[in-house]
Amino acid sequence: MDRQNSTKAYGGYTQQENRTDAFKEFDATQLYCSRCKQAVPVRKRLLLVLPEGDKYEYLCAFCLETVGTKMDKNGAPVNIIV
Ligand SMILES: [Zn+2]
Repeated sequence: MDRQNSTKAYGGYTQQENRTDAFKEFDATQLYCSRCKQAVPVRKRLLLVLPEGDKYEYLCAFCLETVGTKMDKNGAPVNIIV
């Protein structure tokens, strides 16, 4: 049982090692990660789509800890078509 579980966890890590593809999603921004205790490259993830804009979450590229969120305002007024 234990062995199965660790194999599963290892599979997750393998995905992370496929970084060349993931790098495209990386923001240029570096944020401080409290878990890594250093400034880390972050991965931007769309969290919520709201009428006033998109909310993004920044994840640490190494441990995937949430290091910040950002609201991208659409700027354009919201037109509700009835
Ligand atoms: Zn981290």
